[in-house]
Amino acid sequence: MKALDELTFDNRFARLGDAFSTHVLPEPLDEPRLVVVSNAAMALLDLDPAAAETPVFAELFGGHKLWAQAQPRAMVYSGHQFGGYSPQLGDGRGLLLGEVYNEAGEHWDLHLKGAGLTPYSRMGDGRAVLRSSIREFLACEALHALGIPSSRALCVIGSDTPVWREKQERGAMVLRLAHSHVRFGHFEYFYYTKKPEQHKELAEHVLSLHYPECMEQPEPYLAMFREIVERNAEMIAKWQAYGFCHGVMNTDNMSILGITFDFGPFAFLDDFDAHFICNHSDHEGRYSFSNQVPIGQWNLSALAQALTPFISVDALKEALGLYLPLYQAHYLDLMRRRLGLTTAEDDDQKLVEQLLKLMQNSGVDYTLFFRRLGDESAALAVTRLRDDFVDLAGFDAWAEQYKARVERDGECSEAQRRERMHAVNPLYILRNYLAQNAIAAAESGDYSEVRRLHEVLSKPFEEQLGMEQYAQRPPDWGKHLEISCSS
Ligand code: AMP
Ligand code: MG
Repeated sequence: MKALDELTFDNRFARLGDAFSTHVLPEPLDEPRLVVVSNAAMALLDLDPAAAETPVFAELFGGHKLWAQAQPRAMVYSGHQFGGYSPQLGDGRGLLLGEVYNEAGEHWDLHLKGAGLTPYSRMGDGRAVLRSSIREFLACEALHALGIPSSRALCVIGSDTPVWREKQERGAMVLRLAHSHVRFGHFEYFYYTKKPEQHKELAEHVLSLHYPECMEQPEPYLAMFREIVERNAEMIAKWQAYGFCHGVMNTDNMSILGITFDFGPFAFLDDFDAHFICNHSDHEGRYSFSNQVPIGQWNLSALAQALTPFISVDALKEALGLYLPLYQAHYLDLMRRRLGLTTAEDDDQKLVEQLLKLMQNSGVDYTLFFRRLGDESAALAVTRLRDDFVDLAGFDAWAEQYKARVERDGECSEAQRRERMHAVNPLYILRNYLAQNAIAAAESGDYSEVRRLHEVLSKPFEEQLGMEQYAQRPPDWGKHLEISCSS
């Protein structure tokens, strides 16, 4: 266990120099205070959880103090936003404070979001509000607990600093952790600005630090791109299997590590809806729930374009071709497990599709359906779940097929089935209305609800005593909440 002042820094990205990032000091928040901390994330830095309660913690992560070894930098990048190229983006309100390595030798970027103006702030104020900081914190840690690759979050620091959005709000900072903050957009920036030397330096940096195993391959950059394709296919398969809608899949929000990154108006599905659009400024549904799959490929193509100086076009195309089949394999594997199946049959894809269509037409709760399906034997579960469906004949036909399929899958006791299915079907997910309740309390100065919700979501597969209210469908007011895009 380390004390706060014992963190060890090794600022590898900062050392790349001024072509890649700019030195900027954080702008402190007024009256910084701890809103919520993740003990699991503290452990990644070997930090003693008690350290979060000390005043210096809020001062460090509220922009008042800095470690002597920290080198705060705003990174430059660009990216495709809603399909159009934006040539100049960058950390407009976040700073890479430095890279810390833990006792296991892992490097973690400390990224402070909401830290004030930078050369890339454009029209923005460099700030983040409490509401969006809480949402990002909860999402990072909840996704991780679900087994979905994600950036992590250490803490949220609240303040009295006024920040103007649609109305006056309070500024906050979220401390984000990731092994790297390099985005697809970093590569696009150096490609489109025609800076071949820096572009190569960036590629070498990412390859040697984050894909060292690819350096052994005959074509290291191609091996790295393939790995990025594979990781994205797997990450997006998990989003789709668990009903996560990212909302702003611009290439500047796509991590080079294949982790969920840069949260905007994200949502987990309540009722299953393939066409769900969580970002209400996304008028065309470019980033709707089901479009996430082809957009994943589109984004990888944009990255491939930026890698053409290092990899032949034919090889890039071939690697891109891996995306869909890999996505489908991961998705189907996870959905089979969600249905309690341990073997594979050709018609399983159809079984999943038919179920989703029925759920879509009846507005069935996506999370609770699968959880309840595992509560008891297949025959009993489908009888109980039948009431949730409008098309009863359709559901009965599906249920007959499902029961037969479960039988062919092999014998297992009800207890085994429950254990197996509950291990992949969460009881608790970050429903928008739950986040909303926690945010409303936090905005009036009560952080207990954010902390409790974070705690519950850190064990999403385990039934927790007295926490039934977190495993319910949303009340009427909490359905289809419009989450503000301004953050
Ligand atoms: P996003 O859509 O949130 O990923 O942000 C797109 C770009 O806008 C990034 O370069 C951000 O750093 C920048 N940005 C977003 N909000 C602000 C803000 N309040 N102040 C300055 N820059 C911002
Ligand atoms: Mg972003």
